[in-house]
Amino acid sequence: MTGHSNFGRELLDKFEGVVIIFPGDPAYEESRKVYNRMHDLYPIMIVQTMSRAVLKAVVKYGALHNIELAIRGGGHHIAGFGSTHGGILIDFSPFTDVHVDAENGIARILPGARLRDIDNTLCQRGYVIPVGTVSDTGIAGLTLGGGIGWLLGSLGYTCESLIGADVLLANGTIVNAEDPAHEELLWALRGGGGNFGIVLEFRFRLSLLPTVYCGTIEVFDESIEEIFKNLIVYLNEYCPPNLVVAPLLKVVNGGRVCKLFIDFCLSNSPDNREIHQLESYLGASIKHALITRNYASWQSWSDEHFSTPMRGYWKSVCPDFMGAEISTSLLACAKSMPGENCSITLEHFNPSRRINQAVSCALPLVKMHYGILFSARWLVPADDVKYINWVRSSAECMADEWQGTSYSNYTPSEVGKREFVWRGSERLFLAKKRYDPANLFRRNHNISGVNRDA
Ligand SMILES: Cc1cc2nc3c(=O)[nH]c(=O)nc-3n(C[C@H](O)[C@H](O)[C@H](O)COP(=O)(O)OP(=O)(O)OC[C@H]3O[C@@H](n4cnc5c(N)ncnc54)[C@H](O)[C@@H]3O)c2cc1C
Repeated sequence: MTGHSNFGRELLDKFEGVVIIFPGDPAYEESRKVYNRMHDLYPIMIVQTMSRAVLKAVVKYGALHNIELAIRGGGHHIAGFGSTHGGILIDFSPFTDVHVDAENGIARILPGARLRDIDNTLCQRGYVIPVGTVSDTGIAGLTLGGGIGWLLGSLGYTCESLIGADVLLANGTIVNAEDPAHEELLWALRGGGGNFGIVLEFRFRLSLLPTVYCGTIEVFDESIEEIFKNLIVYLNEYCPPNLVVAPLLKVVNGGRVCKLFIDFCLSNSPDNREIHQLESYLGASIKHALITRNYASWQSWSDEHFSTPMRGYWKSVCPDFMGAEISTSLLACAKSMPGENCSITLEHFNPSRRINQAVSCALPLVKMHYGILFSARWLVPADDVKYINWVRSSAECMADEWQGTSYSNYTPSEVGKREFVWRGSERLFLAKKRYDPANLFRRNHNISGVNRDA
């Protein structure tokens, strides 16, 4: 028995209700896996507990022996940050409680909750938090990295609804991030990733569940390029904040046909006039299919497509402006997709929405206008090079548009020379230095300026 497993066994002896899974245990194989099967990682132990005493002991032990600590919420990060090779995995995934405090307008959420836990609990009670678009995603990583979803235009990024958190710091203390003394911590948790400590409870501002009108416009003939151009002009100039539009390019029919799916979610509109305006702007022949007026069911609309974990690689490019001519390059990239599980998604951050919103957050995307996500999923390791090359070369094609900002939640572990996840974030470097000077929490897109002025 190694010294490290002795430590784990001592915790089991001393504390009740703690689950620790060691290599060789029956549950180990399944528990060590993350959603992105590219990452085949073997932690030295997997600790499943919400006991603050145990978690403090693990942090202390990790700091003392310089052991990498990985923290898992939903385990969905593309870079495999939800596990570790040779470190200790703190796995919160069994802890999914969502508590609604309607009187104070707050939801208290444990760090293993998935988006489905949140949507199911809140929507029934007439509330919402603006979260992402696939139910199995963890709220923890989503929030700490930012959080883009169907209510972005009206309610902002997920992290903008974060109003407090209990955080276990590298020095072993637990603090309330809403305490004015920790204003910088709360600011940094809103989009600065898991760099600052272990979040034991998230507290979010509740918003009222909006009425929605959600659907898709499908385009798959020779008019794609023209319609795509019109769409970009529409997004640049006319898109109202209560309409979130997410165009997606894919190939179908064994790669022979390129399709444009324009998914949309319109919230709090009395008569859907915004959708008709969008259609008439795109072109007379366009017609949409209403999929649902129920927000919770739109939230799980694409779940089936993502239900099987596969190998995956993504790149994210976030320009602060995009001209309509970019549609030509994006279509050329789409036509060279190596398989039907590849896609290019355009996310519109609609800067006009910010006029009435004043939440201060670390998320670099708040200054950007668009995100472009190049994503590939496949099954067999022999195909790795083909898919990874497609993603990389497509992102590279956007070099002229690319201001160097990438969305941390979509960025793989190796970051290219011209990519910056924490672009221009001097304030984040200072927060990292204050809360985690020895960089104990490094299994993330690391804010690695910790020693820069040493
Ligand atoms: C199918 C799919 C759909 C997606 N859709 C969207 C979307 O619509 N919008 C969007 O914005 N993003 C989306 N994403 C990206 C998603 O936001 C990130 O993958 C996010 O990091 C997932 O969070 P997680 O808790 O599941 O991940 P994990 O891999 O468990 O964690 C991610 C990071 O957060 C840190 N972390 C986790 N829990 C804690 C904690 N309690 N304290 C401190 N640090 C912690 C981890 O250390 C790690 O660095 C999607 C991803 C997938 C795979």
